[in-house]
Amino acid sequence: MGKDASFWLETSPKTDFPKLEEGLKVDAAVLGGGIAGITTATLLKESGLTVAVIESDRIIKDVSIGTTAKISAAPNMIYADLISNLGLIKAKKYASANMKSVEKMADIVRERSIDCDFHRLPLYIYTEVDEKVIRLQREFKAAEKLGLPVSLTEDVPLPFKTSAALKYQNQAQFHPRKYLLSLAMDLPGDGSHVFEETRVITVNDGDVKEIVTDNGFIKSDKVIVATHTPVYDPDQLVDHLHPARSYVLGLYVKDNFPDGLFVDFDPVHTYRTAPSPNGEMIIVAGEHSPVDVTDINVYYNRLEKYARQHLSVESVEYRWTSKDSITDDGLPVIGMTSQNGIYVATGFGFWGMTNGTTAAMVIADLINGIDNDYVELFNPLRF
Ligand SMILES: Cc1cc2nc3c(=O)[nH]c(=O)nc-3n(C[C@H](O)[C@H](O)[C@H](O)COP(=O)(O)OP(=O)(O)OC[C@H]3O[C@@H](n4cnc5c(N)ncnc54)[C@H](O)[C@@H]3O)c2cc1C
Repeated sequence: MGKDASFWLETSPKTDFPKLEEGLKVDAAVLGGGIAGITTATLLKESGLTVAVIESDRIIKDVSIGTTAKISAAPNMIYADLISNLGLIKAKKYASANMKSVEKMADIVRERSIDCDFHRLPLYIYTEVDEKVIRLQREFKAAEKLGLPVSLTEDVPLPFKTSAALKYQNQAQFHPRKYLLSLAMDLPGDGSHVFEETRVITVNDGDVKEIVTDNGFIKSDKVIVATHTPVYDPDQLVDHLHPARSYVLGLYVKDNFPDGLFVDFDPVHTYRTAPSPNGEMIIVAGEHSPVDVTDINVYYNRLEKYARQHLSVESVEYRWTSKDSITDDGLPVIGMTSQNGIYVATGFGFWGMTNGTTAAMVIADLINGIDNDYVELFNPLRF
């Protein structure tokens, strides 16, 4: 059955940042210490601002360790539908934002020499069902039109029979917690901070904002709400966020597993590998459910059955579950709220490694007055 724990949390150090020191003032307060919050704080500090990350629990312990951490410009089969629903220009912008985000993460790893098992590899979106190949063909045409590095192939290196796949070259995988811990360790100093065990209760707006927490308040010129579901939500964005739960197993197999990220698009199941102290771990995910199901074991059992039908499973070591939210139009929500100087990043639709990094780039540019091509596309007030 496996231990109820995230592989990412179990294979990286714990953190011990202090609680909030009351009465401080920073240029930007970042609420939430997941991939969106920590990456945004990193880019803002790099640009010369003082920042404070304020996290209710310990950082990188919520959805950003519930993930499978595939880094890809192709969030499953979305582009054909995006072209139909939003038009070619918007779809092209989203594809370009995703490609930039993959490269930004690669740059961050290289420039900061982060030891996080970052590894380039292809992503395959495949089907085992001949009748579904037509959907891959449609998505292929769309992705090609948008300039993505895609091909349609029958050569899928999985250890079971498949019908066809889209192959996206030069995508990536990593250990999300090792990556984010490295960024977080570099934040404190020169007027910047990481505060843990400090729950944000509300934000009092004004030219200078006051963030009220259970450990007192902190003042800042800008506020970035990166708490997954926004804890401060002046525009009622929560009405446009549709949360779902998904399930993950970390297991060992008897045979070698191919180098690649693999996504069966219907019903969604994914595979990737990760180096572990006892050899290569295979991380299998799938079985979406409502967030508040009464018996999560039903979904874990289905996922394990699926994994055993497809792989020569030797042992299941870990199992974990987490949730993410999909927006009304499938695009993330990133940018300034109706309140001047208060920004939000949410609605990553199970692709928060790239969308969370895009959020950091867009919000850092907005705060620093730098033109950014994607501001309108992700505008939180678009609904
Ligand atoms: C099973 C699964 C598989 C996935 N696989 C992938 C994948 O392969 N590739 C990919 O790109 N994405 C994937 N995702 C999506 C991705 O993991 C998420 O989109 C992303 O991690 C969300 O990051 P975040 O920073 O918004 O949220 P979080 O990591 O949850 O960070 C938000 C933080 O805010 C804190 N917080 C909440 N309330 C308060 C408060 N009141 N005060 C202070 N702090 C607060 C929380 O404690 C938390 O630490 C997957 C998601 C799931 C569930």
